Amino acid sequence: MAIDLEINTKGKELFLSLATISLIIIMGITTLLWYFISPRLHEINTYLAKSVLTLLRIFYLLIISGIIFLYITCFLEKVFKFALPIVRISINFLFPITVLLGKILTIPKDKIRNSYVYVNNSFIKAYKKQYAPHEILILLPHCLQNIECKIRINYNIENCVHCGKCDISDLVNLAQKYKVNIAVATGGTLARRIIIKTRPKLILAVACERDLVDGMLDVFPIPVYGLLNERPEGPCINTRVKTEILEKVLSKIIRREI
Ligand code: SF4
Repeated sequence: MAIDLEINTKGKELFLSLATISLIIIMGITTLLWYFISPRLHEINTYLAKSVLTLLRIFYLLIISGIIFLYITCFLEKVFKFALPIVRISINFLFPITVLLGKILTIPKDKIRNSYVYVNNSFIKAYKKQYAPHEILILLPHCLQNIECKIRINYNIENCVHCGKCDISDLVNLAQKYKVNIAVATGGTLARRIIIKTRPKLILAVACERDLVDGMLDVFPIPVYGLLNERPEGPCINTRVKTEILEKVLSKIIRREI
């Protein structure tokens, strides 16, 4: 039975539009390049010219298919597993060009990253799946911990003594309530190590735009629900998270074991 996970994905249009425009620009540039260099290549060797043209066609086919499957996931809420590697190649290729295009159009980088988080969240909606508690990992950034707290929560977040000065306390309670894995990562390497160790099938990640997108691109196609942290005191210090949003997502996505 299909499950409506009601995950908010509004805001994905910006990334999708920029990615599509980037694709058209890249195709235009490469076609123009081909037009100028193909006579020269034919002069050197006909087979060389044919091979370059074949490679170019494969490249177009891959990237265009990736974008089409991305649109299908975002708007029709369907995921084709066989297409996930193609989608990954397309996103990884187009993401930096999208950011560059955004720079030319004076669109802030974080706004594009923010939009990509919604694109990525569309995958969870499209999978229409629920997960057993042990398959879920809540991954948090270290900056959520109160800066004055001396307790080491990196290795074991349950060391938190629940003084209530930061959101870690509520997050630990949330993980215990739903019996899901929870961990704090101080960087990409540690995050990767935690993921290898816990082997999650779904990650609920809290971070800033940059870390969230880097992590999502890194672990794709593991579904990641991304939630941006709030930074009332500036970046990387005493950041906050709306625990109630995480709980809402968790309550919909968890498969209750009988
Ligand atoms: S809630 Fe936990 S992690 Fe946060 S300051 Fe208190 S003891 Fe430290």
